Amino acid sequence: MVGCDDTKPQIKLKQETVIITTPDLNILTDAECSNRNPNMNAFFGDLHVHTSYSFDAVAGNLGATPEDANRFARGEEIAFFPLDSNSRPLGRLKIDRPLDFLAVTDHGEFLGEWSMCTKQESDFYNTDFCREQYRASEGSPLMMFGQIISRETPKRIVELCGETGKLCEEQAISPWTDIRHAADKANDPCKFTSFIGYEYTGSPGNSSYHRNVIFRGSSVPKSPITYIDAPLDSMLWQKLDEVCDTEQECDYLTIPHNTNLSNGRMAPYRKLPNNKKVKKDYAQHRLRREPIMEIFQHKGTSECVNGLTSVLGQPDELCDIEAIRKIGKPRVLKALSIERGQLVAGVGETEIPTEECEPKIPGNRGILGAGCIDATDFLRSSLLIGLQEEENIGVNPIKLGIIAATDNHSATPGAVKESDWNGSVSGEDTPLGRLGFGQLGLPLTTAIDSNPGGLAGVWATENTRDAIFDAMLRKEVFGTSGPRIKPRLFGGWTLDENLCANSEMVAEAYKNAVPMGSDLAPNKDLNRVPKFLAHAVRDFESSKLQSLQLIKGWLDTEGNLNNKVISIAEFPTGSDEICIIYADDNFKLNQSAYYYLRAVELPSPRWHTYDCDKIAVESRPEVCKSDDYPKIIREMAWTSPIWYQGVQN
Ligand SMILES: [Zn+2]
Ligand SMILES: [Zn+2]
Repeated sequence: MVGCDDTKPQIKLKQETVIITTPDLNILTDAECSNRNPNMNAFFGDLHVHTSYSFDAVAGNLGATPEDANRFARGEEIAFFPLDSNSRPLGRLKIDRPLDFLAVTDHGEFLGEWSMCTKQESDFYNTDFCREQYRASEGSPLMMFGQIISRETPKRIVELCGETGKLCEEQAISPWTDIRHAADKANDPCKFTSFIGYEYTGSPGNSSYHRNVIFRGSSVPKSPITYIDAPLDSMLWQKLDEVCDTEQECDYLTIPHNTNLSNGRMAPYRKLPNNKKVKKDYAQHRLRREPIMEIFQHKGTSECVNGLTSVLGQPDELCDIEAIRKIGKPRVLKALSIERGQLVAGVGETEIPTEECEPKIPGNRGILGAGCIDATDFLRSSLLIGLQEEENIGVNPIKLGIIAATDNHSATPGAVKESDWNGSVSGEDTPLGRLGFGQLGLPLTTAIDSNPGGLAGVWATENTRDAIFDAMLRKEVFGTSGPRIKPRLFGGWTLDENLCANSEMVAEAYKNAVPMGSDLAPNKDLNRVPKFLAHAVRDFESSKLQSLQLIKGWLDTEGNLNNKVISIAEFPTGSDEICIIYADDNFKLNQSAYYYLRAVELPSPRWHTYDCDKIAVESRPEVCKSDDYPKIIREMAWTSPIWYQGVQN
């Protein structure tokens, strides 16, 4: 088996790694929040942010801790760039509006190595490795560890961690304890929810195979299960199930991100035998543990891509907004290497075309913005593969709800304002840095290719760990490209035409329809078509809403994959709130389909337009003058889909 750790018998592992922290005094029962709303409130948060505890985070220069990230999310000011001559932060930064919930998700993989080589009190701080390699330059850990997690069979650095890697695993326990305690301390039921989490950072072939692992409560494994422990998604869930004991109230879910950079590696059944039973088990496991995905974050959109030959439908120009990858748009890469911890730029550049992947053959270097693109790299086409697999094996392995996040590496969760972006990774803390190309000279998809990221929205009865976690499990969640737009989608067979005018609209919708994230069961009356309640309220600190679009994906009778963007409401000068009942008259009883809602704002400036304005005209870089990066974007929000499984008649 790939990467299986044979030094630890599994039974022992199970007993040793499950822990219960201090009694869960933080968790109150549902009835105890006075603002509890059975028709659900919208809460906004960020389930993806890094602090100095991540080996690659610019937060390391600031010394920002998980506690600082929690403070920032709650609206407190934290230390920020610029740094003085002694590398101490001089600046301060504050979020425009506090968040309702947060998960700090530092990379789980190298918590031990980070702690050993960056904490002066560590016994390993002065070892040759830490001195000459880890601390050689800011980019050294990123390059060294980046190489480890880009292997299919990753292994820790023997010089530091020993032959089995056990030493570094043990050293991870202390920083993980800090992360846990920071979340438990910040969690304030009914007011602010803080989850314990970490990032699983598999990057085989330099493609994104990344997931965040979020725990329901305070009961979590003693240390994270990382890509080094479990180099396949199926192994991750299996190993987490072994150490996250439900009898001890440990519960978790995983959230994939940057599928846009995955080169087909997020496709289901990775490295599993081609056998229906195995595929079914995989699909059921994934359905239970991976309910949602990130559609948008600082490294681009993962909603859709134009030009896939396997999907029928018209091009959608909104797919290109904050798209890092486009079919037909080549990527130029510099040759880089690392020598004794120092980053060395080689001579020459390579232009790599961006083409569709050969069926079932994954590509490489997505994290560098290069390599092939597969239908499973983008939500819209990926959901169609899910419907197709459901027909093949009887279970849908890609049934994902939608959130968005920042994935910010500067401990500033939810800092998504285009007009006031202060960067997400190293080198982005000044306008000129953000207008350049790539972090630390690496050909990563950052700086001018990047953006501030988005937010996760949930519809939950109240702001508690249980209520928000349950909302994620039932996929009653949405993503936004930053603004706090509140979109809602219900699907049913008997929705009243005048429902939008009803003061009990939401209660009626819950009674007569299913909310986003659910399955719409077939109706007994075979002549009926499904109706949708589509509703969105603007963010009053952002632009007005211009349109509501229903995105439909379906399998036709020939088995083709189809997509359509249906414009269901348009307000050319914008609206504060849009509500409409839409009937799908093209519905076919025997065709499996999904529907999700996209609420789109009036056009507004992209972040780099503001940054260009901050620089004197004569000093502005080329990107400020060229049209390579559009000056205008459309902010939007996406609901989770509603699924319909075709019936044979
Ligand atoms: Zn990641
Ligand atoms: Zn991340």
